[in-house]
Amino acid sequence: MVFRTAALAAAFVATSAVAQQYPTKSVLMLVPYAAGGPTDTVARVVAQSMAKPLGQTVIVENKPSAGGILAPEQVKNAKPDGYTILIHHIGMATTPALYRQLRFDPLKDFDYIGLINEVPMTIIANEKVPAKNLQEFLAYIKSNKDKVSYANAGIGAASHLCGMLFMSAIHTDFLTVPYKGTGPAMNDLLGGQVTFMCDQTTSTTSQIKGGKVKVYGVTAPQRVASLPDVPTLQEQGLKGADVAIWHGLYAPKGTPKPVLDKLVAALQETVKDEAVKKRFSDLGATTYPPEKATPAALQAHLKSEIDKWTPLIKKAGVYAD
Ligand code: ASP
Repeated sequence: MVFRTAALAAAFVATSAVAQQYPTKSVLMLVPYAAGGPTDTVARVVAQSMAKPLGQTVIVENKPSAGGILAPEQVKNAKPDGYTILIHHIGMATTPALYRQLRFDPLKDFDYIGLINEVPMTIIANEKVPAKNLQEFLAYIKSNKDKVSYANAGIGAASHLCGMLFMSAIHTDFLTVPYKGTGPAMNDLLGGQVTFMCDQTTSTTSQIKGGKVKVYGVTAPQRVASLPDVPTLQEQGLKGADVAIWHGLYAPKGTPKPVLDKLVAALQETVKDEAVKKRFSDLGATTYPPEKATPAALQAHLKSEIDKWTPLIKKAGVYAD
């Protein structure tokens, strides 16, 4: 018995020594959506900035799946040693209500690192759509119901949530086409294979500024400073379709405290990094202040977002198996 206790104590000391030295190799950050999309963009900015305080490279790896449900499961099942972490958005709060068979529990299976930023969305369409403003676009959708299609990143994606709110706000159903991320969806939208989508400004800003897409509104109560000419949906009379996308960083449950502390400290540096803040604000996103880039703030925000969206989703009666 004494021997067993001593062996356990020795193992504990060895584990905590390893944790103290963390990180001794690169850290993998899993992204639930395809490369080239908005979550990927945020991940790459954060990974590059966190690498400095961590003293190791942070490698971004895309693990795309429609709805973004595979990457959280993979991180849940990864070794809790700080070398595999997850970046995710509002989907962590909406998927529990949308999937009957979700293989992870956002409130039980993770340790929280902190919140990163908040991003509004924009309704954009292929440039050939003739409508010049939201009212004309709504009339266009209603009179072309058989040919209009809406791209999203699958059930549980931000683009799915926004489309769902939009559909209910305009009382019109339209065909939805799921992708493994809005990066590939954007390619099809530019190519005219799909008519429109709602996507984060972190991805749509350059296409809007370059005049490559039509834009019909921002899903925020106020206009976005980086897109001053784009009206909000609300100011054009459309209520009920506003949604703000937030990003957070997660580690597998059971990550040793010294490791988690280092990840939190690195995220703190990232949200204070002027270059990061500028890059995000150029893309219409607002970096959270350091007090939100904490485990407690992410956990509280996730919980309140689950409480906010679950009844709305249940009311809409949308499910995936
Ligand atoms: N913007 C996507 C979404 O709808 C995800 C992505 O490709 O980043 O959630």
